[in-house]
Amino acid sequence: MSDCIFCKIIKGELPAEKVFEDDKVLAFLDIHPVTKGHTLLVPKEHYPDLISTPKEVVAEVVSYVPQIAGGLIKGLGATGLNLGSNNGRAAGQIIFHLHFHLIPRYTDDGLRMWGSRDYQAGEIEEIAEKIRNSFH
Ligand code: AMP
Ligand code: ZN
Repeated sequence: MSDCIFCKIIKGELPAEKVFEDDKVLAFLDIHPVTKGHTLLVPKEHYPDLISTPKEVVAEVVSYVPQIAGGLIKGLGATGLNLGSNNGRAAGQIIFHLHFHLIPRYTDDGLRMWGSRDYQAGEIEEIAEKIRNSFH
């Protein structure tokens, strides 16, 4: 994709602070980090988001997470990790090249990733049924 920022980073046409690279994936630091060391893991092949990516490719990209997370833990002294993926504008996706956010967490860093809500009575069963029904 010629106008994709992450494809340009992969091709070396835009700068990035790369932390890991092989023939399949690239990991580089997010320029607007949620915590120090916030890393983006991307496949070198362009797919717009997680939903449109073949599961074999998703599996391959995700298989790198433990290694890169290990680097954040060993290299930065992180004591935890949040793994995230924004898909679609409604979810806050702004770059439409599949990527995973690896957000290193530090003891007592005070970051709260998301709030939770309550279901009304009967709602949880109704919602689960709609999702189950969608598969057939
Ligand atoms: P999203 O699409 O919401 O998952 O977010 C894309 C992420 O890419 C954001 O956290 C941005 O800070 C990050 N980002 C955008 N441009 C660059 C860039 N040139 N180098 C590194 N990170 C970037
Ligand atoms: Zn791309």
